[in-house]
Order: sequence, then C-alpha cells, then structure tokens
Amino acid sequence: MLMILFKDALIFTFDENKPFKSGNILVKGDVIEHIYFEDKKINGYKEINCSGTVALPGFVDAHTHLIQSFGRGLMENMSLTQWLEHIWQYSLDPESSYYSTLLGAIEAIRTGTTTVCEMITECTAPDKVVQAIKNSYLRGVVSLAVSDFQEGEHTPLVSTDKAAERTKSFIEKYHNSSEGRITTKISPVGLPAVTIELLKISKSLADRYNVGLHLHACEGKIQTERSKERFKKSEIEVLYENGILQENTQLAHVIWVTKEDMLLLSKTKTSVVQCPSSNIKLIDGITPISDMMDIGINVALGCDGAASSSSYDMLIEGRLSSFLQKLDKQNADALSPMQVMKMLTINGAKAANLKNVGIIKPGWKADIVFIDIDQPHIYSPNPNALLANIIFSAKGSDVKMTVINGNIVYKDGEFLLFDAKEIFRRGEELLEKTTNKSSF
Ligand SMILES: [Zn+2]
Repeated sequence: MLMILFKDALIFTFDENKPFKSGNILVKGDVIEHIYFEDKKINGYKEINCSGTVALPGFVDAHTHLIQSFGRGLMENMSLTQWLEHIWQYSLDPESSYYSTLLGAIEAIRTGTTTVCEMITECTAPDKVVQAIKNSYLRGVVSLAVSDFQEGEHTPLVSTDKAAERTKSFIEKYHNSSEGRITTKISPVGLPAVTIELLKISKSLADRYNVGLHLHACEGKIQTERSKERFKKSEIEVLYENGILQENTQLAHVIWVTKEDMLLLSKTKTSVVQCPSSNIKLIDGITPISDMMDIGINVALGCDGAASSSSYDMLIEGRLSSFLQKLDKQNADALSPMQVMKMLTINGAKAANLKNVGIIKPGWKADIVFIDIDQPHIYSPNPNALLANIIFSAKGSDVKMTVINGNIVYKDGEFLLFDAKEIFRRGEELLEKTTNKSSF
C-alpha cells in the first residue's frame, strides 16, 4: 500500500491556544497513519516537502449543486422567486450534465474542498452527475432531489410514487459505492415543493436504508410564508411532526425561523447548512447561526449552486459567514476564525454523517488541504495571526495541494489523476447541446 510522508507542514490542531503545530503527516492508503512532531526515520514511503504551507482538514461543502456550473452567469440580478423560475427551466443533456458537474468539481478541489454534499436538482441524468463526482476523486454525499407539489409555474414534478421509486433505486445503486467514497442521502427538495405524503415516505426510506436526509428549508421569506399558509404551521414544525428532523438530517439555508423552530432543531440534533454567497445574492436573508450555535445546533457551510452563488470556493463562504454575523448581531466578536474553521471542516462532516472525516488525526481519512502561507496577504511575523489570516484573507487560489482519501488529486496548478483541461476543450461543443439555451 502506498505510503506518503507530507513533511514539514504547520498542522491545524483545533487547539485554541496552539492551533498550528509543525510536523509530518504519514498517510497509508486512504488513512492518516501517524503524525510525527519530531524527526523520525521511517522507511518505504514517498516524501513530499510541505514547508511554507499549513495543513488543514479538507473542506466539506455541506450543500451544493455542482451540476449548475454551466448555469453560472446566466441567471444574474434576480431574487430567489425570480431565480427559481429560471433554474427549473435550465436543463442539460446527459453529457453536458457530466461536464457541468466535473467543472464544478474541478473548482471545488482547486479551492480545497474534499467532500461535496451534492443535491442533484436537474434529474435528467443523475447517473452522469454521480459519475463526474466519482471520476473527480471527490468524496461525495449525493442525493436526488424530488418534488411532487407545484410550487411555481416551472417546478419539475413527478408523482409521489415515482419520487419514492427514483429515490429508492438511486440509494440502492450508489450508497457506499466507489470503495465507500460515495454515500447517499434522501432529498425531498424542500417543503414548498413536496407533499406531506412524500415527507412520510422519505422518512421511512431513510429508516429502511439507514441513510440521512438533506433538504432545503426556510430559504426565501415569501416561500416560507406560503408554506405557513399551506400547513398552518412553520416549515420546521411540519418537518418535526413528520419525523424528518434527526441527527442525520442536514437542512440548507434555514433563514426564516423562530426561537421555537430553533429549539426543535437543537432538540433533534438536526444540522443546519448556511450558504452565505447564495443567500446574499438572491437577497434571501441571514441564517441566525450565532443564536443556533448558542443552543448547540451543529452549523456547517455550503456553496450552493454556482448558478446562484457564482462560486464553489469554501473560503469565501467562511469569510462571509463571519462578516454577516458580526454585522447582523452588531457584535464584532461574533463567529471567530476558530468557529469558522470548524464549520468548514468537522461540522460539515458531522452534518453529512461522515465518520472519521474532518480532523487531521491518526486513523482518520486522509482528506487534507495544504495552503501556501508565504504570501503577502497571509504572512505575518506573528504566528498568532495565522488562523485569522487564513479565514479572513486567504482565497481558494492559495491552495497548493488537495489530498482526498489518500490521493493527491491536485498539486501546484495541476490535476494529477484526470484530464481537467478536457472540459475547456469541449466547451463550445457542449454549448450546442445545452437544451433551452435559447431562453438565456
Ligand atoms: Zn440548494
């Protein structure tokens, strides 16, 4: 089994007093075998010099739609209500679905993401989306979004039975595939576009297959109010009453919630995923994550789809998340760099129900990102500034190397395991095949 020694990096420790410690990380196969803080002679490994970098646990994008990459730039300057009508009309043929997802995957890996929780919203070719994630070497928690209730004029609809059938065969096909690198969740897309019956079926399928749930919730103010009119209670209460809230459930956005709603999330150990770029751009609002964290809710971060957020760079989401809380709470102390780092890593892994992912620790999965810190916007003569400089100043383009499941997927500007440039060569050809392109 291949052993690699990542030598002389500043390793992130999650220790408030000493967040970085200089050392060497030995990776054997897909697992971190050992961390050496002193020089030790060991044999039979390949050595990689990592001086001038920090080693962080790979970022977990806990809510995304990589498949939307080809939609980036085509649905601009719209509110969520306007945007939803456009995104539901944006459909790609199977080959374009593959390359659109791959394009998103390339950006994610290039900017330090090692896990994506991909909710597949365009259902014409879900197999191609999973195939692209698999071929990109990302760790994927994939789910098929289904809707059986007419939310807007263009909501893609299937019957409740069909939605259940599609979900079932998707899980049977992909759960724990690609040597465990791909797992699945169940995604009734979100309450405005699903029936109670589908919620109940989703819960029973989740129990039957022992997989989690991944939904949108309380995203737009108008949509959340409409749900309240329809059910005569809040979205969170409806999800709670139908057994959807549980430890293995992640809810994206969760902006328009009351104190009582938040207590239900806390009580059921449901995870929340904030998507700052998307929420700002579509003028959704601000997830009250400081209040949520105060009552013990696990909060992670997601990039959402590039057709709304314009980016798959998790460091942007981390920085915006902190800045939003400081402004919203009128408290400059809100959401520290350490809290943001947890949201980017271990909290995301927890939301995605991934065991042994999210910390650089012996026995844990070798998902590691190395960031070049010898740069004017990160460097400080005082080591105490390093964590703040990474969270508030570093960019995804500062990532020097991305290791996923023990594989060096990206290093020094190159993708080592697949031909990333192919996607750009095929661009125009694929545009010809993009359906509905005339509407944009
Ligand atoms: Zn979404």
